[in-house]
Amino acid sequence: MIADRIRLIESELQNKAKLIAVTKTKPVEVLREAYDAGCRRFGENKVQEMADKQPQFPADVEWHLIGHLQTNKVKYIASFVTLIHSTDSLKLLQEVNKQAVKHNRIIDCLLQIYIADEETKFGLSADEAEALLNAPELNDLPNVRIAGLMGLATHTDDESQIRREFRGLKQLYDKLGQIHRPMIHFQELSMGMSGDYRVALEEGSTLVRVGSAIFGSRS
Ligand SMILES: *Cc1c(COP(=O)(O)O)cnc(C)c1O
Repeated sequence: MIADRIRLIESELQNKAKLIAVTKTKPVEVLREAYDAGCRRFGENKVQEMADKQPQFPADVEWHLIGHLQTNKVKYIASFVTLIHSTDSLKLLQEVNKQAVKHNRIIDCLLQIYIADEETKFGLSADEAEALLNAPELNDLPNVRIAGLMGLATHTDDESQIRREFRGLKQLYDKLGQIHRPMIHFQELSMGMSGDYRVALEEGSTLVRVGSAIFGSRS
């Protein structure tokens, strides 16, 4: 049962990290079951899917965009998104700011950091993230708040490698969180999925993104 799995994971998290139920590809009936079990944070990786589901739920649901975000799609989620986990460029932050202004909101964003030992197009290096957080252009983005970092560990059975990657991300989080600027308010470290959320929790995660361990595998 979805409710049992949510409760079990919540008890493992011991209020140290918050659970985001990753509902991508799942129909709204499944989200409703999670909602009825008390879940109030949903994570989606596609803009269109999230925008379609969001109006079908009460306003107390938090919507977390965890997948890659294209600049031209920010407008579809700007009115309601709670946290964008996947910002990785100044250009994207500028667009988020522009859309946030239209809705008179401040939108929280995490910088996605590349920590895995895998080929991927997405995520910033540590140096790139530091440069971005020091960029003068951020002063022109009053409707964006950078609330922390997100990362995906390597898909591997080697737990020591996963732990090393999460530990490195936590160290970067602690370091970059020292940068004092009005738009930087580090308070969330988004790391951990179904296969590695226990390790992530031990290494200081504040937000785990769990899909298949709650809902079963995606087809
Ligand atoms: C799909 C996804 C998850 C959840 O993956 P599971 O292994 O099903 O828990 C977490 N984070 C991101 C960025 C994802 O795309």
